[in-house]
Amino acid sequence: MWNGKNKALTFSYDDGITQDKRLVEIFNKYGLKCTFNLNSGIMNEKGSFRIGELPVTRMSPEELPEIYKGHEIAVHTLTHPNLLELDDESVREEIAGDKAALEKLFGTEIAGMAYPYGTFDERIISIAQSCGIRFSRTTIDTHTFEIPGNLMKLGATCHHNYDGLWELLEEFLNYDGENPAVFCVWGHSYEFDRDGNWELIERFCKEISDRSDIFYGTNSEIYLVE
Ligand SMILES: [Zn+2]
Repeated sequence: MWNGKNKALTFSYDDGITQDKRLVEIFNKYGLKCTFNLNSGIMNEKGSFRIGELPVTRMSPEELPEIYKGHEIAVHTLTHPNLLELDDESVREEIAGDKAALEKLFGTEIAGMAYPYGTFDERIISIAQSCGIRFSRTTIDTHTFEIPGNLMKLGATCHHNYDGLWELLEEFLNYDGENPAVFCVWGHSYEFDRDGNWELIERFCKEISDRSDIFYGTNSEIYLVE
């Protein structure tokens, strides 16, 4: 399926915040690929926020192509609204505007998206598709390795903080079945600072990397194969 392999690993991380730099370094160290979902309309002071004591800042656009080199960029809307609260025209502007700005900044075509706050319905899906979006991640954890039927309701296997992460890892490493299997982990890199658990993602990456039977790819490389 993927370079002749039957198992694939991918990551999906949101918001384009400063902690992504450290996360990218970890992915690069282990040869892993991630799709980063970015809000091009708030890459400035306005987009910064606090979680308790922790300041979370957005990175400025100029530095991003270098930082995310080798990974995939996807839409997360211009300003991270709850899309369900917007009229059709505003939803279209949030999605198409972000897509166009990111395509210009990174000089590449963009196919993917993640819904801000994970909120969506059939109306949002239809507008996103009309803007050229071919897959969009929700915040639904499937706890399985099945390839989703509807790519506009793309669930990830689990968030990195899921209690059963290590059991899933064990199951994935041992899997030798005929059906293609995808392990997709999602989250926000500021959560590693908030929770003081950078060692969790480092350990996960170390244990799952360097396996000859696993394909390591971006979301597009895994979900958009024919
Ligand atoms: Zn977000």
